[in-house]
Amino acid sequence: MATSGLLFPGTGNELCQPGRAAATVAVMSTQQNTYDVLVLGGGAAGLSAALVLSRAQRTVAVVDAGLPRNAPAARMHGFLSRDGMPPRDLPAVGRAEVASYGGVVLPGTVAQVGRTTTGFDGLLADGTRLTARRLLVATGLVDELPDLPGVRGRFGRDVLHCPYCHGFEVRASKVGVLGGAPNSFHQVQLVRQWAGDVVFFSNGSLLTVEQREQREQLVARAIGVVDGQVTGLDVQDDRLCGVLVEGAGLVRRDAVFVAPTFVPSSNLLTELGCQVDDNGWPLVDKTGQTTVPGVWAAGNAVNPRAQVITAAGDGSAAAIALNNDLVEQDVRDAVVLFRLGMPV
Ligand SMILES: Cc1cc2nc3c(=O)[nH]c(=O)nc-3n(C[C@H](O)[C@H](O)[C@H](O)COP(=O)(O)OP(=O)(O)OC[C@H]3O[C@@H](n4cnc5c(N)ncnc54)[C@H](O)[C@@H]3O)c2cc1C
Repeated sequence: MATSGLLFPGTGNELCQPGRAAATVAVMSTQQNTYDVLVLGGGAAGLSAALVLSRAQRTVAVVDAGLPRNAPAARMHGFLSRDGMPPRDLPAVGRAEVASYGGVVLPGTVAQVGRTTTGFDGLLADGTRLTARRLLVATGLVDELPDLPGVRGRFGRDVLHCPYCHGFEVRASKVGVLGGAPNSFHQVQLVRQWAGDVVFFSNGSLLTVEQREQREQLVARAIGVVDGQVTGLDVQDDRLCGVLVEGAGLVRRDAVFVAPTFVPSSNLLTELGCQVDDNGWPLVDKTGQTTVPGVWAAGNAVNPRAQVITAAGDGSAAAIALNNDLVEQDVRDAVVLFRLGMPV
């Protein structure tokens, strides 16, 4: 296997700035597949962490399966200075930046992680084994979508979930919000901030007397209400035409918001014994340190609210804390050697 640099094919080596020398120490260390830090997941969180760590002259390997959560969308919004960028361009630039400082970015899936006497190891699906003193898990989350015909195929295009990401783009469209999830009432009121023509598909969720107040709140903000069970979406010529409702037929809409269930991709963390909360989210402190010493996590893997910019920020914060932890260990190790008459 190659020993350093950017191993994703065709993703912007040309973006590396000349003059940034890859750290020699990285090359020496990576020959044994051994690193200071192994980063699992190369989205905004993982690559941001890897950039900070490789600039701190830590040897870093990032393993990435190449499926950032926002990949189905045409554009990424709300990232200052990157607004409107195609989602896959951000990690492509990030990989090149990490590689330019000697970080190793490997395409692949980490299938298993474990502890070693000096740290951790990760086993990739292709059988490659990497070892490291510290781990940073940034594997994102999975959006579990309502099981209705048409929803999965249109997600990120005209089936949306986050008005902060795509609300502005559909502000002048006929917008629907699919009810039935615990936060659907909040979501529809939120979406109304962006769009004037909003219909709430109650999907059986506005039928009780207690929900009279919610219905009043919808009507008060000129949000249309369509009762009845939603049976699917009507898609013609690669475009959403509307929502199919039992008893009401086709209700024309250009875009529909749904409320996915967010499931953390945290199985590697739980394998290591990291504790999770009652909803299955890994417990971390404000720097991203998990309950297992030496293991950090960042981005959507631990925080469902993280946007791209906050995931990148979380990755950077985790990298700084993680490097401090390594410096403390380096000091301890140096003192031991010094006392043995072998100063570093
Ligand atoms: C349709 C859609 C549109 C969105 N639009 C926007 C937007 O416009 N603006 C915005 O700010 N936010 C947007 N988001 C949210 C955004 O996607 C997340 O905030 C962001 O992706 C979180 O970054 P991350 O690094 O935590 O995770 P991700 O970007 O999901 O990166 C995780 C990476 O880890 C990899 N991975 C997972 N498991 C493994 C494994 N075992 N081994 C190796 N690699 C692994 C994945 O393949 C992926 O590449 C959108 C989300 C969706 C669903």
